[in-house]
Amino acid sequence: MEYIQKLRSILNRTTKRHLFLLVALSIFVSIVETIGITAIMPLIDITTNFDNIHSNQYYQWLFSFFGFESDVNFAILFGLLLFGFYIFRGGMNLLYSYVMAKFTNKLHAQTTQRLYKTYLSMPYQVFVNKNSSYLTKTIVSEALYMTSVVNAVLLMISEFFLIIFLYTFMLIASWKITVIFTLIVATNIILLTQTISKKIKKIGVIRAQVQAEFYESINRLFGNFKNIKLQDENRLNTNTENFSVIVEELSKVNTFNTFFHSFPRALLEAIGFSLIVLALIIFIYLNQSDISYILPTLSLFVLALYRLLPSINRIIIGYNTLMYHQKSIDIISEDLKTPQENLLNETLEFKYKIELKNVNFSYLERSVLENINLTISKGEKIAFVGESGSGKSTLADLIIGLCRPNKGEMKIDNVLIDESNLQNWRSQIGYVPQQVYLFDETIKENVCCGRKLDRALLDKVLKQANIFDFLQTKQGIDTLVGEDGIQLSGGQKQRIAIARALYGQPEILVLDEATSALDDKTEKKIIDEIFIITKNKTLIVIAHRLSTISSCDHIYNLQDGIITKQ
Ligand code: ADP
Ligand code: MG
Repeated sequence: MEYIQKLRSILNRTTKRHLFLLVALSIFVSIVETIGITAIMPLIDITTNFDNIHSNQYYQWLFSFFGFESDVNFAILFGLLLFGFYIFRGGMNLLYSYVMAKFTNKLHAQTTQRLYKTYLSMPYQVFVNKNSSYLTKTIVSEALYMTSVVNAVLLMISEFFLIIFLYTFMLIASWKITVIFTLIVATNIILLTQTISKKIKKIGVIRAQVQAEFYESINRLFGNFKNIKLQDENRLNTNTENFSVIVEELSKVNTFNTFFHSFPRALLEAIGFSLIVLALIIFIYLNQSDISYILPTLSLFVLALYRLLPSINRIIIGYNTLMYHQKSIDIISEDLKTPQENLLNETLEFKYKIELKNVNFSYLERSVLENINLTISKGEKIAFVGESGSGKSTLADLIIGLCRPNKGEMKIDNVLIDESNLQNWRSQIGYVPQQVYLFDETIKENVCCGRKLDRALLDKVLKQANIFDFLQTKQGIDTLVGEDGIQLSGGQKQRIAIARALYGQPEILVLDEATSALDDKTEKKIIDEIFIITKNKTLIVIAHRLSTISSCDHIYNLQDGIITKQ
């Protein structure tokens, strides 16, 4: 029940309506299925003995109502009707599978889109307290599991109706056989869900653990490739062996899993069909004669069983899936509640100054910045210095609007920065972080970063970042950088990141130890260049080398969360 509540909160209005229509369709398909199975009984009835047409009141009524003249014509027409019906039934089943597949896949797409959007709009402060592989797992796997749970529930509903309808017919056809049959099958189902389902659940838990280890060891291999290559032969062999153990364990639990999944069906079918044959033998024994008159009823039971047993089996499998993956609904509904920024895009003009007034900032309980008062005039070049961990990056994050002050305020030309104009403020800033991230694409792609390609501007910023000549020795702007820029040196990566920031032609440029991986000479060259580029613009530099900051207008020192002008 609690899960249904959560599921309802995940589904939007249209999806709920589609879900409702899908359930209605599945009831209709169950009716068609039931007719398909039960219609075989009158067909055999009529074709094995034409006399039945006249001895049965229903057939006789139809016969005279439509004014038939011969029994053969009646039988042929009945056959043709069924012929058409089975083609219709096939079409209905195809349609149902298509609609069902479309619904579940759309639900999956919608859920991933919503998660992506939620994650994108979460505040930076929330993001830094999350684990990115956890977020990836939710958006990749949990969304898929949730879809499979919904799929399982839908299947269970449609199979449930089919079972109800078929049962009704079976009861009408012979309630005695049906009752005995029901008792035996019910006992089986209870036994199965109490034993096999529990076992599957347990194996599912082990599988999740082993799979996590599996991913972990692959990640460790690629993430730590250099260090692994430096190991001696013994440890390398141990590595491979450890991995083999995990893989074999995974293959073992998967074997059990597959086997247990086929178990209910095998058991149900063995019991179902042996029961039918047993019933036949008992009938022959009791009557001591030919039992062709019971053939129609019996064929109904055989067919019903043939359709019913997989149905029951699917309900059991659906139940297992539900047990196994229901947690994903929890996870997704929690994650969809991640705090979000509600930003409007009001224009914020920056002509004179940036002001921070009595700003305090803390990560969770730990205070990092205290009572910061700072005014930066437009066009000023300033530097933050201080020991590592003194809060320089945090202060830069506050100024660029990624972190929000816990106390105090920030104003641009006397306009308070709030949700209405924060987005606009952020878009005026060019930022080069301490840790540069490059994606596995060309230089062009990495610098433009989704913005429109302007070839002249691109060449210009690459020259300004002092990387243009180096790229000429390779494939120019089409040079590939490898995953996270692995094919480049630390300094080259930093220069690409500077070009990326300059490409936006920002009003304010923030460099957070952006030149720390460069040699003195290159750094001097780039910084000089940057001072020229940002002539009328505002520049905030975080750096350690005196040469970098000496030409700044003001230098601020951070210590114990307190800022002082030097
Ligand atoms: P700096 O850039 O001057 O080296 P930072 O601004 O990165 O320093 O960090 C300031 C302090 O805040 C450090 O003590 C660091 O441990 C802490 N800190 C930084 N990021 C986080 C975070 N996401 N959660 C908790 N504490 C953090
Ligand atoms: Mg820092």
